[in-house]
Order: sequence, then C-alpha cells, then structure tokens
Amino acid sequence: MLSDRVWRLAGDERDKIASVLRTDILRGESVGTMIRNVRRVHDNDTWKIERLVVTEGNTAYRAAADFNAKASEVVTGLRLHPGIKRSKGCVDLANEDRYGLGKGVFLPGDSDVYNPHPNCTSYVTYEIDSRWL
Ligand SMILES: [Zn+2]
Repeated sequence: MLSDRVWRLAGDERDKIASVLRTDILRGESVGTMIRNVRRVHDNDTWKIERLVVTEGNTAYRAAADFNAKASEVVTGLRLHPGIKRSKGCVDLANEDRYGLGKGVFLPGDSDVYNPHPNCTSYVTYEIDSRWL
C-alpha cells in the first residue's frame, strides 16, 4: 500500500519495500539510513529512493498525529502548516477553510492532510478545545 504512490512494482518487491519503510519509521531511523535499507531490497536512483522515504516518513507522522487527534477529548482539529518548499499542494490546503474553523484547520479523520503531495514536508499541530486552555 505504501509505495503505490511512488512506484508501480510487482507485489513482492513492493511488499519488501513497504516492510523496510514501516520498520524504519517505527524505529525513527534517519533518512540516510532508510535510503540504505531500501536500496538493499530495491536498487534505484538515490533521488527516487529519497523521495519515497521522505514522502512515506512524513505521511506516517501526519497520519499518526491524526490517529491521536481522533482518540483525544481535547483536540478539536489539526492545523496544517506548509512545508519548507511552500509547494502549491500544501500551501493551498493550509489556506483552505474547509470546516469554518479557520484557515488550514481540518477535523480529525480528514485524511487529506496525510499527504498533500509527493515529497511534502508540511506538518500538523493540534487545535485544542479552549475549555482546556
Ligand atoms: Zn508540501
């Protein structure tokens, strides 16, 4: 499932890459280490592997933040902050007021914030119910 977005590969090879990525993301490995580990199961241009690693790593962090937001009684939304390159995909999302909660604020469970575009370095912060502040 993970690498579908980046490479169209046969199931076997894709599963190996997904497994490496999952393990490394859980361990909090650096991008450099993840690139080396992916290369062991799938040789490709470094920039392509880096793109995969960065994309999937950041997507996992945003999805995990959403998972926590959904489980929380004090988090009312996720605010999307554009990545360092200020790409159109995440800048547009960060300027959207989809739920009338303010620009860039999304309800927990809205998976559009998981991966605004490939190589996205955007991040999310929690919106907290004001009764708890
Ligand atoms: Zn972005």
